[in-house]
Amino acid sequence: MQAKPNFTTNTFAYHNISNRFNIGINNISPNQFEKHLKLFKNYKDVTICFDDAYEDIYINAYPLLMNQPFKKIIFPISEYIGKYNDWDVNFIINKKKHVNNKQLQDLNRSGWVIGSHGACHISYKTLNNNQIYDDLCKSKDTLEDLINKDVTIFTPPFGYFEEKFIDIALKVGYKKIYLNQCYLNKFQSIHTCALNRFNIYKHDTTRSIKRKINGNKIKYFIDKNIHLCSNATVVVKKFS
Ligand SMILES: [Zn+2]
Repeated sequence: MQAKPNFTTNTFAYHNISNRFNIGINNISPNQFEKHLKLFKNYKDVTICFDDAYEDIYINAYPLLMNQPFKKIIFPISEYIGKYNDWDVNFIINKKKHVNNKQLQDLNRSGWVIGSHGACHISYKTLNNNQIYDDLCKSKDTLEDLINKDVTIFTPPFGYFEEKFIDIALKVGYKKIYLNQCYLNKFQSIHTCALNRFNIYKHDTTRSIKRKINGNKIKYFIDKNIHLCSNATVVVKKFS
């Protein structure tokens, strides 16, 4: 399960950058994040992604990334811009606000790329093809109206993806889809629009991030299982 060369990109996915208490493994302190940024300076063509577009990214990560040589992508959930994250099963404890319209426009003006993370943050495992098409269209339209620019990058809610969704996303007008390596490895064909990225978790250190970049098999196995377990929990909780 070594990373296939054509899938290898130095792209890293984050969720929260803050010092607040947060259940789970997606919150990283600004101090820790600064250490990661120092490490990334040793690599070429680094892209840093932020899923869900929480307000703490605007408050804490945006200033740290000012004048840094990395590509920045933020993936808002279009129906939740400026709202609290009540789509999250841990909402009662992990109540957090998403960026608002103005903050998103500021990021866009500062050179950040705005991508889509769907409209409602519902796992595509639970939707049919028409519903997936609608979710992809709705989020693209809302974001394009807001920033007055084409939105052509997508990453799926909860990361869940199947090869057959690619045609739907391309039909809607997306050109690049960022995915966890474990989905790319399952594809039967090579799709140049599908790009690999590494999830960065609270327990990651600069050493463990280097292991991910180098395609370390054990690290890949651990990350894959963290991702699949968290995804299974979400789907079970939604339907229980
Ligand atoms: Zn998400």
